[in-house]
Amino acid sequence: MQDVIIIGAGVIGCAIARELSRYQLKILVLEKESDVCEGTSKANSAIVHAGYDAKPGSLKAKLNVEGNKLMEDLSHELDFAFRRNGSLVLCFHKEEREQLEKLFNNGLKNGVTGLKILEKEEIKKLEPNISDEVCAALYAPTGGIVCPFNLTIALAENAYTNGTEFKLNTEVMDIIKIMESTYENYYRLKTNQGEFTTKIVINAAGVYADKFHNMVSEDKMHITARKGEYCLMDKAVGDYVDKTIFQLPNKFGKGVLVTPTIHGNLLIGPTALDIQDKEMINTTADALNEVIEKAKKSVNQLPLNKIITSFAGLRAHAEQDDFIIEEVKDAPGFIDVAGIESPGLSSAPAIGRFVEKMVLQILPAMKKNNFIGHRKGVINLSSLTYGERKELIKKNPAYANVICRCETVTEGEIMDAINRPLGAVTLDGIKRRTRAGSGRCQAGFCLPKTMSILARELHVDSKDITKCGGKSYILLKTDEETER
Ligand SMILES: Cc1cc2nc3c(=O)[nH]c(=O)nc-3n(C[C@H](O)[C@H](O)[C@H](O)COP(=O)(O)OP(=O)(O)OC[C@H]3O[C@@H](n4cnc5c(N)ncnc54)[C@H](O)[C@@H]3O)c2cc1C
Repeated sequence: MQDVIIIGAGVIGCAIARELSRYQLKILVLEKESDVCEGTSKANSAIVHAGYDAKPGSLKAKLNVEGNKLMEDLSHELDFAFRRNGSLVLCFHKEEREQLEKLFNNGLKNGVTGLKILEKEEIKKLEPNISDEVCAALYAPTGGIVCPFNLTIALAENAYTNGTEFKLNTEVMDIIKIMESTYENYYRLKTNQGEFTTKIVINAAGVYADKFHNMVSEDKMHITARKGEYCLMDKAVGDYVDKTIFQLPNKFGKGVLVTPTIHGNLLIGPTALDIQDKEMINTTADALNEVIEKAKKSVNQLPLNKIITSFAGLRAHAEQDDFIIEEVKDAPGFIDVAGIESPGLSSAPAIGRFVEKMVLQILPAMKKNNFIGHRKGVINLSSLTYGERKELIKKNPAYANVICRCETVTEGEIMDAINRPLGAVTLDGIKRRTRAGSGRCQAGFCLPKTMSILARELHVDSKDITKCGGKSYILLKTDEETER
């Protein structure tokens, strides 16, 4: 019997796992995909919001501001990329200024520090490429950008190092509530890899959280998948803007932004469209054209010839329009962490701590005295000095063999990504841990080499290597080979 089972290894499940791994608890994370960070956590704007737009008093407001404050220290403890680049919300007409001031006051109520309303000349000084139509902007210096993959992977690796068990490729199919008495109850989870029992379930299943809530409660929940599409541009224009540029929010959220990414690309998006199919993460010409048209409003001469790829993610929108983080009334020991749409990524460190307290109230536990709070990420050769690189290459010549030319990723870094705790087992897993394949050519050149390193390190045939698990094979397999 487990003490805690967490359904879902997105940023939320992994943040909770990491906080709980400080305690003498038996924790298991169940994830249906072949890696962590395969759901919404892999496809978003990656902004660590300042926290001025959520309704004062809401969980979104409280946890966003707290999460934003925690992110910097966490990035040092767990070695992931984060930068406080600040953000601007643009206003294009005098009549909209009232909305900007409302946002400013909202931010003050939420406890956001450093907010300022800037006039056109000040904005143009900060951001020369901003549209000439701008008349004022809300400046939030605490806004930041993060690598969502590295954040999630870092949390997961650290939880794993501290004894949390992860079962990947394990899809939860059904949950049975077993009530033996008022005090004694537990849950049986049926999966495609067998059954598991646990005293506490944490439902961090993203857009599917309603499905699991509804298995144990009479009070039904509905999560709507709200799709957002993006265009990603080449590093050549990564400094086109320095801050994250928003427009005034609308009823569907924060609107289309233009932002540098933490890795030095330029990102524009997202759209917002409610959809039925929770697996539909394709991009469409209409939505991408909408992104481009809206982004053009924020900056002059958007460098459209630098687009290298597009992607889409699904927000988990709850009717309450707030995060739902609570023990289900008619299911003691079952904790929903649902409706975690934006600012979920920003709030993740605070959500981890919030749920930690809830779990300890249900199941008091002692702290471990051997908890390891720090973790070292995959070595990034490009961030080292010439001397450091030389030293590393002397110890391991694989660090001299450049595999991904666009992002300058070496064989040594790829081997590290594979052979570390909860290491990469797919090409996407390598991409998210090292950036091999995420550059201008989008893996056009490095894919065959990365594939053979992966096959060699995992001791499997190249034909068994997948892009992202399941049947996403790169090389053609016969029916017989697929069966095996
Ligand atoms: C377009 C868009 C833009 C966004 N921008 C931002 C932003 O800039 N800043 C910000 O703070 N937030 C942003 N967000 C929100 C943020 O991305 C989410 O709040 C966060 O990623 C949610 O994480 P999660 O762990 O709850 O969900 P997920 O990452 O989706 O994780 C849930 C996991 O549960 C697994 N799962 C589901 N069903 C099962 C099952 N049956 N068995 C086992 N496992 C299962 C899934 O495979 C998945 O890995 C954005 C979201 C979107 C879509």
